[in-house]
Amino acid sequence: MASFHLECVECGGVFTEDPALLVCPRCSTEQEPGGHARGVLLVRHCGLPSSWPLDGSSLRAWLPLPPTLELPRHPVGGTPLLPVPSLRRQLGMPHLWVKDDSRNPSGSTKDRASWLVCAKALQYGFATVAAASTGNAASALASCAAAMGLRAVLFVPDSAPPAKLLQIRACGATLLAVRGSYDQAFELSSAACAARGWYNRNTAMNPFTIEGKKTAALEIATEIPGHQVDAVIVGCGDGVILGGLGKGFADLEEARLLARGPRLLAVQVGSSDALARGWEAGHAHAARVERAACVADSLNVEAPRNAVHAMRVLRESRGDCVRVDDDAVRQAVALLGSWAGLFAEPAGAAALAGLLRALETGAVRRDERVVLMVTGHGLKDPGAAQILFPPQLCVGCQVDELPADL
Ligand SMILES: *Cc1c(COP(=O)(O)O)cnc(C)c1O
Ligand SMILES: [Zn+2]
Repeated sequence: MASFHLECVECGGVFTEDPALLVCPRCSTEQEPGGHARGVLLVRHCGLPSSWPLDGSSLRAWLPLPPTLELPRHPVGGTPLLPVPSLRRQLGMPHLWVKDDSRNPSGSTKDRASWLVCAKALQYGFATVAAASTGNAASALASCAAAMGLRAVLFVPDSAPPAKLLQIRACGATLLAVRGSYDQAFELSSAACAARGWYNRNTAMNPFTIEGKKTAALEIATEIPGHQVDAVIVGCGDGVILGGLGKGFADLEEARLLARGPRLLAVQVGSSDALARGWEAGHAHAARVERAACVADSLNVEAPRNAVHAMRVLRESRGDCVRVDDDAVRQAVALLGSWAGLFAEPAGAAALAGLLRALETGAVRRDERVVLMVTGHGLKDPGAAQILFPPQLCVGCQVDELPADL
């Protein structure tokens, strides 16, 4: 009674659901060590709902879960779409919104993917779920797994921001701090899953990561007045949030609720520019970079795993890839703080940096209906923001000692 199947983004092969199935068995024979994931699978629903997912329970009908599966309550998604009046005035953009995904339980968009993967792990009867991560996917999985009574094993570069590493340990997960890059941790974790029989949540490799992240698109289109958005802008690393957004809007088109989804703009920062290189060269997939080390640690990816699907989403949405540098991202952290009251981690502020750049190049017009995805909370990496701000004012306890010019 499968109500969905899985379709390969490369060869179009169609497969029935199977707990052991991650990527396309045909295309994955071409997998290069350390390269982008070959044969990424998308969920194809056999019949989507014909009405808008107005709340958490109606949203569930858009997900590949058996209706009878009972899940512990863990409030992922349903994050606010904020009209940000000061930011609108500052930018002269009357139709700008921020989707504040930093309000997920572990503070990032990664909760959306981890929630669906944990739900599938419960359905399939796995006891342990594992993943590699630059930090947020791991803290999201640690949190979701704990809430759902699963064990989590996380492989994270030992250079990840300390707060992210602490979040993982605080949720009782097994943290393996890898002396190496995220890309190396990815290879290690996939090998460990195969050897130990753990459920593999690695981004793009597990089809439910893209499917879980699509809920952000469903929420945006449901909530925005008139359901119409011109552009959604998001910081990009592996390209799975981007791919999830594309999948969500495509599902709404397939359900005939939306005539045409928005343009999707991927923001790439500094040396972490594998997707931008592939896009500018007109390739079918992202390039691979030697050393990804930008200020936005969540975007430091050398071989974007969702390389093929992400590029297709950019093309099919008539979107674009926008480059910004580290300084522009730091500035965007400060602007989001003082114009919207939101403290984002650098990867979360990258969308605003990308918007400012896109306004300069004309890729976005000021009168358009634009949504910025703020994907992660600033408390996850306070160190990255420190250098932005002048030293704090220290004062004594007497009112007449206060500086005169306050
Ligand atoms: C993971 C992450 C991203 C990028 O998502 P990808 O799917 O890797 O492109 C952006 N922002 C934050 C805060 C993240 O954790
Ligand atoms: Zn295939």
